[in-house]
Amino acid sequence: MVRNNHPIISAQKGALLASKMIENIGPKELLTQTALPQIGSNKITLNEERIKSIAESLSRNDDIEPFDFINPDLPEKFHPFALDYFFIATLHQFGFWTESNNHYNQPMIASLNGTMKKGSDYLWRSFLNKLKIDPNFFTAKRQTEITKNELKSLFHSDIGENPIPAFDLHLELCQKYGEDMISLRLTPKQIIDEANSSKNPLTFLLTILDQISGYKEDPIRKKSNLLSVILNQRPEQFIHFNQNEMVAPIIDYHVMRSCLRMGLIEISDEKLKKQIMDREIISFDDEWAVRYSSYLSFQKLVDLSGKSLGAVDIFFFRTRKRCPEMTIPDCPNCLVEPVCAQKKELFQPVIRTSFY
Ligand code: SF4
Repeated sequence: MVRNNHPIISAQKGALLASKMIENIGPKELLTQTALPQIGSNKITLNEERIKSIAESLSRNDDIEPFDFINPDLPEKFHPFALDYFFIATLHQFGFWTESNNHYNQPMIASLNGTMKKGSDYLWRSFLNKLKIDPNFFTAKRQTEITKNELKSLFHSDIGENPIPAFDLHLELCQKYGEDMISLRLTPKQIIDEANSSKNPLTFLLTILDQISGYKEDPIRKKSNLLSVILNQRPEQFIHFNQNEMVAPIIDYHVMRSCLRMGLIEISDEKLKKQIMDREIISFDDEWAVRYSSYLSFQKLVDLSGKSLGAVDIFFFRTRKRCPEMTIPDCPNCLVEPVCAQKKELFQPVIRTSFY
């Protein structure tokens, strides 16, 4: 029950099992259960038929292959500080949107190095620019010493402004990351070396990340899973996985938006549905319901399609361009158009978090 899970998920599963223990005398109730009780909400359901049809569509598509995380916004192959860069730049992959009057306003987009870059791409590039001039910035010690002005200038756009929403959260996580790495007496290279010499490298890496600020907070480990995929799929193949190990779904804004619009998950609660359509900030419980259901449906897509998690992740990543936040979805040119529910009015849950 505890193995391979984030401590919060293990505790929740444990609590559900403990509750079964008191429904009857002894462990009888546990032994008669055919499946573990699920952590979830009655406001969201999984549409099994839709999951099956989308999975079939993916399985027929050979164009869906994992990404090698090489592009102009990322360090070149065999860059000597690539590992340090990815440990830090990945933990900042969150919060790419602005808020207005308790509602989603728009995605974060700003000009950097002469081109307009959106959220994630902007962050990767900002950290890459720093890597080019000051690689020691990526050490734990420097992270603990970082100042507001230093981080602001790292994020400066072409017009000298800092466009990053929730900036204070980024600053706090830099410092806490540095402190945790120092107290664990670890560097990214040591973590990877120890992981690779362990029996289960992925499990080892995730267990260490569960102790490091910027990664440890999220029960379904979006950034930890993303970092694991990057380190495995980069040409350097920093980490190898045991053949029985598989990365869990990386649940981001665009994945939840796609899960809702495709009809992989359905909202049965009318109040929540309206809040989602209106792009209103919702409660943490409701956000968790959408996010965890998306996680379960993503996992089923991987199992049923026969594709790797990295391949299904890149499918969702590409779909986000056809199914964006601010313009009408381009259904005729979308890979899953024939099997998608096309609920274009739905949106991702809106909440400020450092998880994604
Ligand atoms: S673009 Fe259209 S078909 Fe594609 S996922 Fe979005 S709503 Fe579905």
